[in-house]
Amino acid sequence: MKIGLDFDNTIACYDTAFGQVTDEWNCVTADTPRTKLGIRNHLRSVGNEETWTRMQGHVYGPGMQYAKPYPGVADAVQALRAQGHEVFVISHRTRKPFLGPPHDLHAFARDWLTNSIQHQGAPLFGPDQAFFEETLPQKIARIGSQGCDLFLDDLVDVLRHDNFPATTRGVLFDPNREHVAEDNAGFKVIHAWDQLAQFLPR
Ligand SMILES: [Mg+2]
Repeated sequence: MKIGLDFDNTIACYDTAFGQVTDEWNCVTADTPRTKLGIRNHLRSVGNEETWTRMQGHVYGPGMQYAKPYPGVADAVQALRAQGHEVFVISHRTRKPFLGPPHDLHAFARDWLTNSIQHQGAPLFGPDQAFFEETLPQKIARIGSQGCDLFLDDLVDVLRHDNFPATTRGVLFDPNREHVAEDNAGFKVIHAWDQLAQFLPR
């Protein structure tokens, strides 16, 4: 099978990255929850949307040093390849931040993928196995042109996109169990990487 994987918030976890950047920048009050949502809500509540926008450009750039792979990513990818499946990354993010220094956000993502997702010291995704698109429609088109039999993503909007290929089985990655179980028409839901194999033929 051909298996496509989303990158941000599916492979790369930012749960603690926003808190670490926030502490570096000293830009919220001491009682603000150090979560992405808590930080965003605080900055918005004090009318500082600009800092929030800059922070996103930073976290997906140099701040990727604080991103961590979700547990089991490399093991799962290695196991799928060992079973003969083709596995690649298909992601979309803007090339440059909306505000702040003009980092190449695609380059930061590729470098992180190369350095952070490895098996026995070797990167699991070469340049021809990772596709970083700039828009959601381009990402959806890539899922189709790569002929994915299965695609894993943390966003319902991707799996339910009008042009999401009918021949691709969508799987939602929901590590924090935020998705309402009843609202899963058209796709499966997993909560951890070691649950992905259950959808594959043995
Ligand atoms: Mg994502």
